[in-house]
Amino acid sequence: MKKYLLLLLITQAFTMNAFAEQKKQNNAHNEAEDLAPEPTSNTTITSYQWAKEAHSSRKSRRHNPPPSVSSLMIAHTSPVTVMSTVITTPIFWGSSWANSTLASDKIIGLSYWYSNLNSSHYKSTVSEYTNLIHSSIAPLFVNSATSVSSSNPSNVLTQVCTAVGSANVKSNGYYPVYTDLPRGTANYCAYHSAGTCGRTQIQFAFFFNLNNDPGCDPASPYAPVAGAANAQNPGLVAGGSSAYQQSQGLAALVNVSAHELMETVTDPGIGGIWGGWYDSTGAENGDKCAWTFGPSNTGLSSGTVLIGGFDWKLQGEWSNTAQINQTGYLTTGSLKGCVTGS
Ligand SMILES: [Zn+2]
Repeated sequence: MKKYLLLLLITQAFTMNAFAEQKKQNNAHNEAEDLAPEPTSNTTITSYQWAKEAHSSRKSRRHNPPPSVSSLMIAHTSPVTVMSTVITTPIFWGSSWANSTLASDKIIGLSYWYSNLNSSHYKSTVSEYTNLIHSSIAPLFVNSATSVSSSNPSNVLTQVCTAVGSANVKSNGYYPVYTDLPRGTANYCAYHSAGTCGRTQIQFAFFFNLNNDPGCDPASPYAPVAGAANAQNPGLVAGGSSAYQQSQGLAALVNVSAHELMETVTDPGIGGIWGGWYDSTGAENGDKCAWTFGPSNTGLSSGTVLIGGFDWKLQGEWSNTAQINQTGYLTTGSLKGCVTGS
């Protein structure tokens, strides 16, 4: 799960090459993803370009033992570093975003999801850690002539700084970068990270193009069969027929977007330290409930979460309180620490 943690120990001078090597190693050991070392408290980040974790794909999860879900998450600094007021700016990187076949409903759908998150029950999954106030602004686009070179965090950070402008980035900003790069042999669907534009520290995330990628697909009942592209109709779904309201690619991106945002909020990279909430194995709130789906809060199928009057299939987030009180939904064994805010 923490495939990039080795990077934390690498000096800045060797970041690029070391990352490439680490990535290669991880790809070569796709079925042993959890070999990455466990983090120690207050892990020091010596580079300004790093990634906290890579959200594993379903495929690699199937080949690995489940992450430790038995332990509660721990605050790694005092006071714990979490984000409260967060402003999200989605960024779309890749020449294909000019192509309506790829773009389909994704740009509208992701923007809509982010803009409605703050009023959702799902936001309450982090309320025991932070009083989150989330807002979002219009998406930005990287120059369509700039093709996506790689998922390397330093490359992604460079695109964020360029698209937003180093003078305009926000220290409470979160910049999820959606690319047209297929996952290929990578054993993760997305990751979140942190870095610096100019003198401003920011949080960002990276997402592959998840079209027709079963390894990163929540199999949402609200998405049509893979490959089809149906227009989204936000607002028409609540309480009514929800089938075929979003494309498969959008549904897959929103599912992992929820995971990365909630992890960023509860465990941001601040001051060169990951000082937020994660358990003794390094698993953050999203990791501990990855690819598990709770009961619907709309009376519909498993995993259904209502946001902005629209149904999404979203994996859960870990709640220490729910585990202690046994009020979350049942996952591994008798654990009930995963919640969706329903
Ligand atoms: Zn994660």
